[in-house]
Amino acid sequence: MRCPGQDTRKLTVSYHPCPTCGKLVEFFSDELMVKCPACKTEVHKEQVPSCIQWCKAARSCIGAKKYDAIMKDMEEAAARKQRVKYEG
Ligand SMILES: [Zn+2]
Repeated sequence: MRCPGQDTRKLTVSYHPCPTCGKLVEFFSDELMVKCPACKTEVHKEQVPSCIQWCKAARSCIGAKKYDAIMKDMEEAAARKQRVKYEG
């Protein structure tokens, strides 16, 4: 008999491109970071819904404070990716 908790915990798989080599890295829904199997770069799952990046209403939609925090996070993530690219 299977534990009912196991049944409701459905893991989904998604793919995110490695910022260094572009390989699609497999993420299970409970994973936030996976090492790229090809080049060992740490690939972080984007937590931000993509609409926030382009939607003009995003700031009022999710709240200015949260929006600014997310944008700051994304800028820092982009800076990290740049460093990886040039140092790697
Ligand atoms: Zn890679």
